[in-house]
Amino acid sequence: MNLKIAISLIRITNLVPYKTRDLFFMSSSTFNPENQQKDISNKIVTGLERISEVFKVLLWDKAKLVGLSPIQIQILIFVAYHKPALCNVSHLAKEFNVTKPTISDAVRILDKKELITKDYSASDSRRYTIILSETGKKVVEETGDFADPLKNQVAQLGAEENESLFKSLSTLIFKLNQSGLLTVQRTCFGCKYHQKNYDSHHCNLLQKPLANKEIRLDCSEFEEKIR
Ligand code: SF4
Repeated sequence: MNLKIAISLIRITNLVPYKTRDLFFMSSSTFNPENQQKDISNKIVTGLERISEVFKVLLWDKAKLVGLSPIQIQILIFVAYHKPALCNVSHLAKEFNVTKPTISDAVRILDKKELITKDYSASDSRRYTIILSETGKKVVEETGDFADPLKNQVAQLGAEENESLFKSLSTLIFKLNQSGLLTVQRTCFGCKYHQKNYDSHHCNLLQKPLANKEIRLDCSEFEEKIR
């Protein structure tokens, strides 16, 4: 659960700097302390912006330790835990909201450092799947815990508060996805196997009910629901 909350916060807080640019000169800005006193949603967004700084700091600290950039570490960790179909330049660009050339550059360095290998497609010699090398796996072991300081603080909130926080975050993530602000999601709410029964959830693939805390944010069986 704490890991799920940490992942939710990563997804949401990645959006905050993008929105900040649009709001900067507006008198109704979320970041105007006077507006925060009038509307709690302003305070929540400001809080998410603060948390986004934590992610940046934690990731940079790890990056410095292993001599890689934050995006290079994010790519290695993503490849370690996701199916090969998602481990290509196009998908990673969408996953991390960056351009394909940014991912290609990062992958080129990872390849040069022998942290990954490229498995080229038989039908298209320009396309390849990224695979971790043994050295790459060791780097993931060293860096994959970068969000633990945040997770540990989340854990201290207690089970009840964690469940409530996770419910709000998972709903917010789905709404951001539906509005087009978060492009990639593999959450139950957007999955074709998800069924909502009045006030409960059910997975038709796993054939079991899902309690709120069992809703997945990044499910390997996810298949997008066609709307
Ligand atoms: S397959 Fe995964 S994402 Fe889809 S409803 Fe079941 S648990 Fe959720």
